[in-house]
Amino acid sequence: MKVLKFGGTSVANAKNIKLVLDIVLNKAKKDKLIVVVSALSKVTDLLQLAASKAASNDETYKDIVAEIEKKHLDALKELIPVSEQSSLLSHIKRIINHLETILDGCFLLGELSARTSDTILSFGELLSSYIIAESLKQNLKNSSYKDSRELIKTNNNYGKAAVNFEVTNLLTTTFFSSNDSQVVVMPGFIASSLDEINTTLGRGGSDYTAAIMAGALNATELEIWTDVNGMFTANPKIVKQAQPIASISYQEAMELSHFGAKVLYPPTIQPVLRKNIPIHIKNTFEPEAEGTYISDVSTSNGNPARGISHIDNITLITLEGPGMIGVSGSSKRLFEVLSNESINVIFITQASSEHSICIGILNSDAEVAENAINKAFEIEIAQNKIDPCIVEKNLCIIALVGENMKNHQGLSGRMFSTLGKNNVNIRAIAQGASERNISAVINERDVKKALNTLHENFFEENTKQLNLFVMGVGNVGEKFIEQIHQQKKFLKENLKINVRVIALSNSRKMHFDDDAIDLDSWQTALDNGETANKELFLEKVAALNLRNSIFVDITANADVAATYEHFLRQSVGVVTCNKIACASAYDNYKNLKKLSRQYNAPFLFETNVGAGLPIIDTVKNLIASGDKVHKIQAVLSGSLNFIFNNFDENNSFHDVVKEAGVQGFTEPDPKIDLSGIDVARKILILIRESGYKMEIEDIENQAFLPKECMDTKNNEEFFKSLITYNSHFEGILAEAKQKDSRLKFVAQFENGKASVGLQFIPKDHPFYNLEGKDNIVLFFTDRYVDQPLLIKGAGAGAAVTASGIFADVIRIGNV
Ligand code: ADP
Ligand code: ASP
Ligand code: MG
Repeated sequence: MKVLKFGGTSVANAKNIKLVLDIVLNKAKKDKLIVVVSALSKVTDLLQLAASKAASNDETYKDIVAEIEKKHLDALKELIPVSEQSSLLSHIKRIINHLETILDGCFLLGELSARTSDTILSFGELLSSYIIAESLKQNLKNSSYKDSRELIKTNNNYGKAAVNFEVTNLLTTTFFSSNDSQVVVMPGFIASSLDEINTTLGRGGSDYTAAIMAGALNATELEIWTDVNGMFTANPKIVKQAQPIASISYQEAMELSHFGAKVLYPPTIQPVLRKNIPIHIKNTFEPEAEGTYISDVSTSNGNPARGISHIDNITLITLEGPGMIGVSGSSKRLFEVLSNESINVIFITQASSEHSICIGILNSDAEVAENAINKAFEIEIAQNKIDPCIVEKNLCIIALVGENMKNHQGLSGRMFSTLGKNNVNIRAIAQGASERNISAVINERDVKKALNTLHENFFEENTKQLNLFVMGVGNVGEKFIEQIHQQKKFLKENLKINVRVIALSNSRKMHFDDDAIDLDSWQTALDNGETANKELFLEKVAALNLRNSIFVDITANADVAATYEHFLRQSVGVVTCNKIACASAYDNYKNLKKLSRQYNAPFLFETNVGAGLPIIDTVKNLIASGDKVHKIQAVLSGSLNFIFNNFDENNSFHDVVKEAGVQGFTEPDPKIDLSGIDVARKILILIRESGYKMEIEDIENQAFLPKECMDTKNNEEFFKSLITYNSHFEGILAEAKQKDSRLKFVAQFENGKASVGLQFIPKDHPFYNLEGKDNIVLFFTDRYVDQPLLIKGAGAGAAVTASGIFADVIRIGNV
């Protein structure tokens, strides 16, 4: 004998019920079966809604009854041949009339007792089981129906009645000993008290009905047929990467279901555990999938953690005060109060000082609990020995579960550091003595992030998901996206990093997709996006609250640079090629670095100096390993180098600057390069990264542009001025020729002083042969005394800058 239970979605409509019938008919060839069914999907919720509407004098309960009636009539008409329908349809109508009469009563009285509520809720299962039993009879003559209320006996605790197993088991065995149907269909969830009043077993309780039958009759197996492929490592509706667990122990399954894995109603395990009857969770919509096998053995793949679950709608109540210390019995009194109010305590922690005790209960119990506790401790509160209890609502419990966790060290450390790195604030922690479960109370808004990040850490072979929010998709931005697109598969397979672009924005439009933007068509998505709005962008990043979020700034905009603080404070990492923040006031630069450490959010800006060249990373490594930088000499402007390398008798200064712009080597405003400001910012950043305090004004800028060129208002005027002052530039060129040297715009730092300016570089100098748009940096340090540490290579251009940004993103992925 096997017991099969089909959930609400499995019997949602005629189409699904046909799948159920197929499964049942197939199984019935081999075994005798009891088939327990839930109400049609959502019907119990509808009944509850109708009842509360009726009781609050809202006549629209009648519409709900009509909706329920239609659902069932539709299903029946599709499942039963027309010739046989009429008596069955009248039966359904009779049941619905009965339901309506009871609801009318609630409406008239303006009242709904727990007892009446149970009777109303029982209609869902009564209707579904009737339709399914009748449909089955059409295909299998030797099948019958049995009303669970005649077999399952409970106390009168309406809403969640406790089963009297002695009576129930006796009635059940007696009934089945004389029943020889191959299949017996029964409604789940409903029962009756010894005085024959309708009761229910708690929401989700059809699983329990099936387990009670299986236990009473020593079934060989209990099969729970639902809408997912088994019990998953986390709720698959929230964690997309969750996987079904092939086999799990009763204890682990119980722990997961107690902590919110709704796929199995928690009390279900007890009756079958006692008899060692295995539970098989299967998917009605994918019957060939293996599902989850729950028994007294758990075959894990070596991972001590088996799953993560969570409970929403939690309130934390803390009772504290000096009066709690050493006074035995405070906790006893607290729990007595809660028990008297029938409040279920889900979570408890107590500081070893006994100064405070903290409990987790459902939000819906919060008010009653608060009042009851404050009342019970009234005297101590009046004497200031105990504070009125502190109530924090809208929290959530997450639990990491696994039988074998007790044999492994460091799991809780790993759990909490994973959450901490993602800025998930932990309000309370509990670890059961069995060490089968480590649980934490967190804010409800963090739950998706917490579950996903824990799942990634414990179950996904350490694949790390990075979620990018990219601002600026010009030349460099476009290349950056192209590079991610191209490398995505490689990164996933080889570095176990899953890079996802969640948002893109330029100055006109922005587009968000929390499932990651398809990089094949990002341009269209962005063009069709909403109007760009920086404040909204910031809000959306915060609202999505994704793990490992990184803001990528590929603009040269001061307003964008001003947002970093906001992101870092939310533990969103920042990667930027925009120099403005790091070259702003020293205190601001320092503050960003401090926030980065404080909030565990990386702040990386390798491309601020030398585009993709690993210059800043090198300085960081030198300093971290105890070296000291004394002197820096560098050519740090790819654009100026390009300009002075191409400026000759045949190419006027104006034309060369123009060409540098066309090729994307200059800033959008070329004056920033030509004035030397850009180079000054770069050397400033290197100086600061070397550990010195300096402001931009401290850097001497030996400008070579005539003042009139500097004073122009826009690019057009600026280019005109370059033509006007052509002879000035020709003069500089002639001087270089005469000195047999080349022109380089050099940045220097030595003895605490820094300068930038155009220099005549003689043939024997390492800068002389610096071609194209290359950069070069020489670091003179404690360790590199005679021969400096030299870094040289392309220092401008969209592709190398993009690759530098990309490298920073991967750096974050690798930590
Ligand atoms: P039924 O109506 O079949 O009883 P339920 O809705 O009660 O189905 O339970 C199945 C649902 O449980 C799934 O659709 C899923 O959303 C949810 N669920 C939560 N946690 C888990 C988990 N760890 N594994 C599988 N399902 C889970
Ligand atoms: N129909 C009931 C509910 O929705 C019982 C169940 O489906 O298990 O809670
Ligand atoms: Mg269920």
